[in-house]
Formats: sequence, C-alpha cells, structure tokens
Amino acid sequence: MIKGSCLCGKVAFEISGEPSSLSYCHCSRCRKAAGIFSAVLIGKAADLKITQGQDAISKFSPESGAKFERCFCKECGTSLGDMATGDIYVVAVSALDDDPKIRPTFHMHTASKPDWYEIVDDLKKFEGDPAPDT
Ligand SMILES: [Zn+2]
Ligand SMILES: [Zn+2]
Repeated sequence: MIKGSCLCGKVAFEISGEPSSLSYCHCSRCRKAAGIFSAVLIGKAADLKITQGQDAISKFSPESGAKFERCFCKECGTSLGDMATGDIYVVAVSALDDDPKIRPTFHMHTASKPDWYEIVDDLKKFEGDPAPDT
C-alpha cells in the first residue's frame, strides 16, 4: 500500500498493487501546474482509492481539449496529478507519503522543456508521449 496526501491533509489516498511506471513529464502544462516538471506514478485506475477529502479535490481541464487534467486540493493547492482517468491513474509522486519502490525510467514531452532546464541523467527521453510499451 502506497499512501499519499495533500499539504493541508484534507485529501488522502491509497494505492494498492504495483504501479506500472514512474516518469517525468516536461510538458508546458506540468511546468506551470507543478513547478518545473511533474514526476508521475502511473498504474491501474482500480488500484487508486481516495480515502479522504474527495469533495476537496478540484479539477482543471484545458479548454483546448488537450489530454491533460490536473487535480488539486482546493484548500492548499497541492498538485495531485490526473488521478483516475479511464483505465489508469496518474498520480503526482510529490503527493506521496510513502516510497513507491519503483524508480523513474523515462522523461516525456522533452520537446516542451524550457532551455534553462537541462536533463542530466541517462534515462530514456521521449519528445512527446512515451512509446506504448514503456
Ligand atoms: Zn490540501
Ligand atoms: Zn505534463
């Protein structure tokens, strides 16, 4: 079980089962919403349970219809990720209280990364969405 919560403690969630990946997203939306980039944990939607504060979660979806949703605590603004969208969950690793045990394996949307930030590790890089088998 991996537990997570927001800064003020109103929102809490639990993840059961094994996440499928941990990665970094450098898209311009994550940059604005999360600071510099998002570290995201992805897994099966059924494995994510909001245990507290469902009504404190606000969701932002861009008017452009871009594939991006950002859930955040409306009290403290903590970025929670997309939470559950369809078959998968996408949770902000920064909101976790426990070690998810898996480690980052790739960077995505690096084409949108600002020039002032340089990636200095050797993880796989995808200019856009990651390859389906990643
Ligand atoms: Zn909060
Ligand atoms: Zn992103």
